[in-house]
Amino acid sequence: MRAPEDADARRAIAPQICYPTDTLPRLSELQVARALAGWSKTAEVLVPPRQAACFHVRAGQAFRITSVDGPQVGDLNLWNSTDLSERFYSGKTRALHGTHVTTGDRLWSSFPALRPMATILHDSLGWYGKDAFGGSVHDVIGTRCDPYTHNLLAGGQYHHCCHSNLTRAFADATGKTLHEAEGFVHDVLNVFMCTGFTRDTGQYFMKASPVRTGDHLDFLAEIDLLGALSACPGGDCSFEHSSDTAACYPLLVEVFNTDATADWTPPLVNAYDRSHGR
Ligand SMILES: [Zn+2]
Repeated sequence: MRAPEDADARRAIAPQICYPTDTLPRLSELQVARALAGWSKTAEVLVPPRQAACFHVRAGQAFRITSVDGPQVGDLNLWNSTDLSERFYSGKTRALHGTHVTTGDRLWSSFPALRPMATILHDSLGWYGKDAFGGSVHDVIGTRCDPYTHNLLAGGQYHHCCHSNLTRAFADATGKTLHEAEGFVHDVLNVFMCTGFTRDTGQYFMKASPVRTGDHLDFLAEIDLLGALSACPGGDCSFEHSSDTAACYPLLVEVFNTDATADWTPPLVNAYDRSHGR
């Protein structure tokens, strides 16, 4: 296709950040300091390889996800445990914080609440930054590996994709049927996964995660949460997912009381009046 005469001039226009974050509410230094202090463990769940498990975290508690036996990627879903229709909104989190999240970034909930569900307190892979391929860790761009896309591209019935793992775990935790539960599963935070978009074709890529045994990602729960974590069948996602060929390891989820727990005040739901111009 022939480009217009002023094509170069149009391409040369400098980009603007869609959502400058200077006015985005952040935790105060005091809130962060209290959330990082006085940790005492109240619960833990070991997520088996190629499975998912649910866990509860109260507002003001912290939770830690650790790769315990070998390099393993996890797919995380979060719901407001008192209103399961409020769930993690990966797309808006991406629009606000960028394609990958790290210490200080917040995980935002769906409309109409649009409030922080959790804030990342510590990221042991925070040193990774962006590599020469444009890759980085903990993305909010991939959706989750799922049996439908697998069927579309490769055919067959594979049941241990993160989508199905999360569906089974959510059904077990809530008493919902599998088909009811499936509708609550949503786009994830890809914990420890190393991903990006190729520079030439803009395609979503993955590469071996830099995660090693002991690496962890710590969160402050800002509202009462039901979480579900899947230990992705892709293992470290160096090669492929949606199969049983990759080496897979468990992930540990631990829940802690902190100095912030006792008197934590959850953030209010969004103040938009929902009249939508009528
Ligand atoms: Zn997966």
